[in-house]
Amino acid sequence: MTSIKSFLNRDPGEEIHIYTDGSKSNNNVGCSAVLFDHRVTHYPLIQLGERLSSNTTVYQAELMGILKACAVFRDYTNNYDSRNLSNDTRVIIFIDNQAVIKSLSNRHIHSLTAARTRNALDFLGKKCRLTISWVKGHSGCEGNEIADNKAKHYSYSDYRIYQTPVARSLVNKDITTYFNNIWNEYWSNIDLSQSKDWFPNIDTTFYKKLLRYNKDTVGLLVRYLTGFVHLRRQNRLVNAEIHPSNLCRLCEEDRERAIHILLHCPRLMIRRQNILGYYYSDKPPTHNDHDKWELRKVKEFLDFSNILELEKDENAIPRLNANESNYQSSLSNYSTTSSISTTPSRQRNTRNFHSISPSPSP
Ligand SMILES: [Zn+2]
Repeated sequence: MTSIKSFLNRDPGEEIHIYTDGSKSNNNVGCSAVLFDHRVTHYPLIQLGERLSSNTTVYQAELMGILKACAVFRDYTNNYDSRNLSNDTRVIIFIDNQAVIKSLSNRHIHSLTAARTRNALDFLGKKCRLTISWVKGHSGCEGNEIADNKAKHYSYSDYRIYQTPVARSLVNKDITTYFNNIWNEYWSNIDLSQSKDWFPNIDTTFYKKLLRYNKDTVGLLVRYLTGFVHLRRQNRLVNAEIHPSNLCRLCEEDRERAIHILLHCPRLMIRRQNILGYYYSDKPPTHNDHDKWELRKVKEFLDFSNILELEKDENAIPRLNANESNYQSSLSNYSTTSSISTTPSRQRNTRNFHSISPSPSP
């Protein structure tokens, strides 16, 4: 591999230059190679290209362009008056994709097209002094421009379509899409009221945000977001004899459950407003509502001794500290609303608060 800079001062008359390119636009894929022998003429001597099947990736199209370069050189040595062609002749293949050049120099190659390309280059390297060089695309280099135009031209050709081996990345993408569709369908039909309030649609990257935390925090967040949290309502569902009451120990106004703590409990309204940005809400902010819904904020809201204590001790009656105790002045202004409320309502409406219908899930 040699930088193009080292060739700037060389006499191109002693070299054969082959420019290659691959092009993909929607389902139209093509590749090309253009050969210059400046000892004969400064015009392109041979141009080869092919339309490739629509499943071809850009990476594969670039590789196919290099395969065409090997073919174009073979064509030149067989059919043209290639005078003075020997093992000392320098042949430079110019490619405008650095990732492709890098992948060809890897010790291990996993792509069938890349393996074929490297074999072809190895074979070509025995017949001449072969150099692979990067050229900046769309920089005005004549050979690169011609190869680029030819690749685009061939991508619309009706003559023949070469079936490229299906890329592993494409297979993985199709499998992921297929199973995500099944997952989404399952998710839309399953009855998980609280989890689905937070996650109306599946989010395949959410776990990455969640797993940044330690296992205790992950457990806390999962319990509160799914509703399966060791609060009085859930405990009573498990065993009503041992846990006869389901009343919230903080406010004594509603059932003590995750959604109550996160959205309704009047004793936590100031904390909710300060951290989550709303006093009350009848529905969790959806996962797409990034202003209101941030895992970091939910974690910060829950990471509070009075909330943590509820799960630890069934009989504990947490007392809010001074910073949180100003809830009482706001309590008289409390009202549930149909959407997220960022300011306390003027009127108290405890009826709405108590009219939340029981749900089979926590
Ligand atoms: Zn409460």
